[in-house]
Amino acid sequence: MAPRRAALHTQSTALFAQGLISKRDLDASERAVVDEKAKIDDVRKQMSTADTQIAEVLVEVQTEQQMAKGVRIPKGGTVRTTSFIRYNGGGAWSLAQASTVDGFFHLKFGRALPIAVFGQGAIHNRWRLDHHNAMDISLNPDGAEGQALMDYLRSKGIPFSAFRQAIPGTATGPHIHVGLPSHRY
Ligand SMILES: [Zn+2]
Repeated sequence: MAPRRAALHTQSTALFAQGLISKRDLDASERAVVDEKAKIDDVRKQMSTADTQIAEVLVEVQTEQQMAKGVRIPKGGTVRTTSFIRYNGGGAWSLAQASTVDGFFHLKFGRALPIAVFGQGAIHNRWRLDHHNAMDISLNPDGAEGQALMDYLRSKGIPFSAFRQAIPGTATGPHIHVGLPSHRY
């Protein structure tokens, strides 16, 4: 809510009731409240998206550090740990196929694929993480939707990494990274 605007609007309503301002002024006051509320909702939404993106990047960076010991996964092979699943699909993958994956998901679950990160963003540049040909899907790999997505990717030979861990104290972190693992450069 926008308390300041809302308070002003309450005042305007009282003034209108007393015949001290016009209906037009009252309407303008009402619109201002609605506009301000929409703006705040927008910022909130952007902030939660930013939180999700940061959490997903952190989880990937941490995992890359743990994986750096040099585990090689054969083509078509899968590695599972308690915190993640990595499938080294041998099929061709490019971000241009994102709409096909979205199409599959939409057909099965009746909603858009919850893409949190698409390609390289400012945050990856800052972390020196190569994320050019990957996208992050905000689905928990342990949920039904996450499982279905991973089955689909496997059936197409599309490589992915599924992260189970959450950033302590937040609900964000678990996600499915579609594409080859991002490396730090
Ligand atoms: Zn990713």
